[in-house]
Amino acid sequence: MKGNPSKQDILDAMKQIDLHGIPDGFDKSRWYYLVHPITQKTYPPKAVWGIATGRKDFNAQSAKRWLEAKSFFVHDIRLEQDGTGFQTQVATALQDHEKRRARLKTASPQAEAFQKITTGYKRNPDVVAERLYLAKGICEGCQTPAPFKRKKNGTPYLEVHHVIFLTDSGEDTVENTRALCPNCHRQAHHG
Ligand SMILES: [Zn+2]
Ligand SMILES: [Zn+2]
Repeated sequence: MKGNPSKQDILDAMKQIDLHGIPDGFDKSRWYYLVHPITQKTYPPKAVWGIATGRKDFNAQSAKRWLEAKSFFVHDIRLEQDGTGFQTQVATALQDHEKRRARLKTASPQAEAFQKITTGYKRNPDVVAERLYLAKGICEGCQTPAPFKRKKNGTPYLEVHHVIFLTDSGEDTVENTRALCPNCHRQAHHG
């Protein structure tokens, strides 16, 4: 058994995988991808850590932690901002009922926490107020009344949506907004 691997040991392990593939006993990673600092190729962190240490008695999450401690970048597909990575995983998981049930039996009940860096927009409250005023409690998508009233102030619950998204440089103006019920709002983003 080797001691604590060096950066070079880890790079060598990635080269091993290039030459010989993923060794027996290590699966392809479901969520984590170790990114090679130069080639940007991706590798299953558990296998890389396993080759570098000569050990197998750890899980993918600890492999990820140790590699990050060595300043390697480990990508987590579940964090992809557009959600496509996660949605692909859900679609794959939906396909095999039995494997999914088997995984669920041994799955950790604790969701792993992570720090999020997001870009927010300081929206103009006058735009939101004016759009809600114009909608008069009726969803501007499906033309039905808001599904419930806000606990705080009893006003109809509608969400003010930007027709051209702020992330696409849409304007924060009354003209570029619609008051939508939660269903129509989801559809506007994901439909
Ligand atoms: Zn609606
Ligand atoms: Zn929206």
